[in-house]
Amino acid sequence: MLTRLGAALSILLTSATMAAAQLTVVATTGMIADTARQIGGDHVQVRALMGPGVDPHAFRQTRSDIVAMTRADLVLWHGLYLEAQMEEFFEDLSRRRSVVAVAEGLPRDLLLAHEDYDNRYDPHVWMVPDLWQNVAHTIRDALIAADPEQADAYSTNAETFLAELETISVYSAGVLETVPQDQRVLLTAHDAFNYFGNAYGFEVLGIQGISTESEAGLARIADLVDLLVTRNIRAVFVESSVSDRNIRALIEGAASRGHDVHIGGELYSDAMGEPGSYEGTYIGMIDHNVTTITRSLGGSAPERGMTGQLSAGM
Ligand code: ZN
Repeated sequence: MLTRLGAALSILLTSATMAAAQLTVVATTGMIADTARQIGGDHVQVRALMGPGVDPHAFRQTRSDIVAMTRADLVLWHGLYLEAQMEEFFEDLSRRRSVVAVAEGLPRDLLLAHEDYDNRYDPHVWMVPDLWQNVAHTIRDALIAADPEQADAYSTNAETFLAELETISVYSAGVLETVPQDQRVLLTAHDAFNYFGNAYGFEVLGIQGISTESEAGLARIADLVDLLVTRNIRAVFVESSVSDRNIRALIEGAASRGHDVHIGGELYSDAMGEPGSYEGTYIGMIDHNVTTITRSLGGSAPERGMTGQLSAGM
């Protein structure tokens, strides 16, 4: 009896020690949270503030988010003006907590200018795995700084994750290459794909600008309808974190001129898929986007993606 009690107590104590030893991390976007989980492994407990379908350009922290962040060992946000509504909050929090803007460390010559603001950069760097490698390094370093005892584990896990980024990068370039040259036009709800277009040679058109804050005017929609018709573009894409209202207006506009356009699929632009699913990981998100774009625009890619893990019928 005593032995059993002792065993139970020691299990309780062990799990309490383990929980206490875990570094608590709060991350804004799913992409940052997943990367922190991959690199942190068992040593971290990561909470993402923004779930599937959440638009980071418009997101504001809730009361429970504030509580979580003020208690966390480490807070990771994207920066580059992605979380536009949270800038002041993070500035304030950084005086009291360990706060790192993970994309701010990217070399400036790798960044694209922001169309709407002088002296700002386009924040959508996660669309290209080669760029995300820089962010992964920054997250690894932030974890090591916050928890030096586990430095070796973080370094080893980071190596594994960086190798996965390399694999998805090679897959992406390989399948996107099969899209016919005259079909390499990516029309989406907002300008989240400029880095993607730059890296893989696609012309990228967003109905709204880089931020989702500005409204798209009727003139913009009319111009894009014109372009769909004259360039004979057949597929446009919706985004999981932006309303599809404008895309539908575009399809109707083209139809009224006798040009048939269909939705090529839903892309994960600024948020990932459901937690626990493959599309709810950074690698799965990129696989989904790249595979969907390739197949919808006439290229060839496996139906279920790089490793057969994509959900069917997406
Ligand atoms: Zn965006």
